[in-house]
Amino acid sequence: MIEFDYIVVGAGSAGCVLANRLSANPNNRVAVVEAGGPDTSPWIHTPVGYFKTMGNPKTDWCYKTEADPGLNGRSLPWPRGKVLGGSSSINGLLYVRGQSADYDHWRQLGNTGWGWDDVLPYFKKSEDWEANGSILRGANGPLAVSKSRLKHQVVDAWIESAIDAGYLLNPDYNGENQEGVGYFQLTSRHGKRCSSAVAYLRPVKKRPNLKIFTNTMTEKILFEGKIATGIKVRQRGKPFTLTAKREIILSAGAIGSPQIMMLSGIGKADEISGHGIETVHNLPGVGKNLQDHLQARPVYKCNVPTINTQVASLFSQAMIGLQYILTRTGPMTMAASLGTGFLKTRPEIKTPDIQFHIQPFSADSPAAGPHKFSAYTASVLQLRPESAGHLELKSSDPEQHPAIHPNYLATPTDCQTIVEGIKIARRIARHSPMRDLITEEHAPGQGVAEDDDEKILEWARNTSTTIYHPTGTCKMGTDPSSVVDPRLRVHGIKNLRVADASIMPVIVSGNTNAPAIMIGEKASDMVLEDAQ
Ligand SMILES: Cc1cc2nc3c(=O)[nH]c(=O)nc-3n(C[C@H](O)[C@H](O)[C@H](O)COP(=O)(O)OP(=O)(O)OC[C@H]3O[C@@H](n4cnc5c(N)ncnc54)[C@H](O)[C@@H]3O)c2cc1C
Repeated sequence: MIEFDYIVVGAGSAGCVLANRLSANPNNRVAVVEAGGPDTSPWIHTPVGYFKTMGNPKTDWCYKTEADPGLNGRSLPWPRGKVLGGSSSINGLLYVRGQSADYDHWRQLGNTGWGWDDVLPYFKKSEDWEANGSILRGANGPLAVSKSRLKHQVVDAWIESAIDAGYLLNPDYNGENQEGVGYFQLTSRHGKRCSSAVAYLRPVKKRPNLKIFTNTMTEKILFEGKIATGIKVRQRGKPFTLTAKREIILSAGAIGSPQIMMLSGIGKADEISGHGIETVHNLPGVGKNLQDHLQARPVYKCNVPTINTQVASLFSQAMIGLQYILTRTGPMTMAASLGTGFLKTRPEIKTPDIQFHIQPFSADSPAAGPHKFSAYTASVLQLRPESAGHLELKSSDPEQHPAIHPNYLATPTDCQTIVEGIKIARRIARHSPMRDLITEEHAPGQGVAEDDDEKILEWARNTSTTIYHPTGTCKMGTDPSSVVDPRLRVHGIKNLRVADASIMPVIVSGNTNAPAIMIGEKASDMVLEDAQ
């Protein structure tokens, strides 16, 4: 048994922040407990390395969803980082905060302290934006954010065509206004990935009051009555116990955190007792309110080179590798997407409801490798889906993945929005200069007529996939379905908080890494304030 003041479970986007901030005071003895290994693979630090780390059990939990009715019974791979840095070590590097209205909505729901004015200082505190600080952007934080080093003719053409179609150019969607089209910003420095582990953990790993446990699976939380006192862990088959004098903070992500809670007896009593788990506290919201962004992926064949053809020969691959080694530039610095657009499907709505991810490549799946022909992908997703799913235990064995039910495309608005998004992808493709570069629409293709909403929706159900943003499964709030209060304390339990993407009451209108890091920053302050 080893005793600490604070135990952080999970060294992911949020967990690394907590490990750093809580251990800044040498009087706090802090443990961070990570199921995955150290982030030693060079592929983790090479931006384009997500092709090697995703789907690789050394760095990815390799979850799979249950058959989803909204996807005509398809089951999807759901990667999640299992390594220091968590999903920030295997993600697409895209740095997006979401809309100020997202956070104001959280506050409206009763979450005092989470409005845009409250969270902006934490986004700024975390950030080191290469274009310098401003009222809205941070300049001296640990997390490096940079402009894309890679530009591509096809992405430039898409942006110009979107402008020709009437959309606005927006050079900084993390600035005053999210709406418009432009290039993505990345969590990277000098052409290398800046994960949460690189930003927050590496610089402080030698602190004598910080102990980093890797390859250490948290199996359950230990309690005295309704007070969390420690965790039971297993490291390479060997079980042991860690105790926390002050608090345990779950930062195991939107799947790990609710799973650990349910394994420990916090969840819907009749569900967990079915697995022989004794109820510590009946909290029906644990694992519910699962929200994700679903991407539809129209693909257009092109008459100019794209990454598909630029990496086709071994020689060109070698040259690209050499370019990266010598100059840290070129296709190996590529984030998962280059161009983006935050647009509205209906003029009457206040803020964008869809997001594009423009990729100068195409593939049937990440594992399948690029198509043999030159093409780009205009991935489009609905920013604020109404549909919500849930996850539940399959057994009391911590090694067994929970059953994940995403419940995509379950409401008329969600169906209508994805259809409109695909129509906008098609409309932009008809504008100049893109139309002169496109030889054919590969998908949905000619068989899916422009005005046939039913067929477009059917195509979306048959081909869409996750863009890897599960959130909301330990929802923050004050209503009976919430799991943590606005200070992220688990309802009904003492000395236990959750701080990661699972606490989002409603998914944000954008990618979820920057918000998870912001949550880590804000949670750290709350833990330290409450200790006084
Ligand atoms: C492939 C992929 C691409 C993505 N692309 C982007 C992108 O480009 N931009 C963006 O903004 N977002 C992206 N995301 C989403 C974003 O990275 C996540 O939302 C964010 O990292 C979540 O942070 P978190 O702290 O909630 O969880 P995580 O970062 O997932 O951290 C959870 C940590 O807890 C550990 N853990 C879990 N269970 C246990 C246990 N029982 N015991 C010990 N440790 C445990 C995990 O191994 C992990 O390290 C992507 C995600 C993935 C997977």
